[in-house]
Amino acid sequence: MENILQETKFIMDKYHIKANKSLGQNFLISEEVIKTIVDCSNITKEDLVIEIGPGLGTLTKDLLEKASKVICIELDKKMVNILKDRFLLYKNFELLNQDILQVDLKNIIQQEKSKNQIKKVKVVANLPYYITTPIIMKLLEEELELDTITVMIQKEVANRLIAIPGDKEAGGITYSVYYYAEAEAIIEVPKDSFLPEPEVTSKVIKLKIRKEPPVKIERKEILFRIIKCAFMQRRKTLLNALVNTKVFINKEQGEQILKKLNLPITIRPENLSLQDYANITKLAFPLKS
Ligand code: SAM
Repeated sequence: MENILQETKFIMDKYHIKANKSLGQNFLISEEVIKTIVDCSNITKEDLVIEIGPGLGTLTKDLLEKASKVICIELDKKMVNILKDRFLLYKNFELLNQDILQVDLKNIIQQEKSKNQIKKVKVVANLPYYITTPIIMKLLEEELELDTITVMIQKEVANRLIAIPGDKEAGGITYSVYYYAEAEAIIEVPKDSFLPEPEVTSKVIKLKIRKEPPVKIERKEILFRIIKCAFMQRRKTLLNALVNTKVFINKEQGEQILKKLNLPITIRPENLSLQDYANITKLAFPLKS
């Protein structure tokens, strides 16, 4: 840790940088954690890597050595000169000084694929924690041609994202992540692996994007809206939650649907599988023929 810690302090001093809390700046200072993130991403010279929030470039350095190209997207202007100076000699480095939530990733990926011989696109990041969920949902919902997403996030959020639907830890978002990807926990990361230390323990997770979704459903927007409604009222039974949010017209319709699917009327939102929710979607909102 000592080397990266010294290097990080040196760069921050040289460029008069103070970590900006509101941008979620907690810089990695653990060699071991960086190695784990890079190793588990299985990066090859045929991969395009997209790094979100490179900060001072601690992780970027190792990514540049392994990948065909690394496109970094960093919101903080102050990091631009640092990164440009640091990676001046790397021809495979590109930096976009933009907000990740505003970036047209589909277009960037298409362009890179047409220009270069890229086989896979991988996202690797130590994410800014204040926008973890919007970033992950953007990466999944835009249905980009991604192979994997390896990210460091808060431990509690990680546990929710990687839970299996039906688990105690499952939330509405668990089902969305499960629909798009197979999730895996990689390593728990203590607070002292960062400068400054964050207030929470972190976890690295890896999402392998599915080629085919695990359930077949024509209107996935309705499926996800129903799941959202179910978890808005987590302490209630599924039946009450879906009646209150008007997914079911009334209790009688809800009871009929649950009965048809052999689900107990007292079942709770977190105890259903994704397939159960897909079945409810089909019965509550049948396709007009
Ligand atoms: N990758 C570096 C590391 O591991 O040391 C820094 C990680 S730090 C947790 C998060 C980084 O994301 C910061 O550099 C921050 O400026 C950047 N960031 C914050 N909001 C962003 C946004 N909306 N779009 C792109 N980058 C953002």
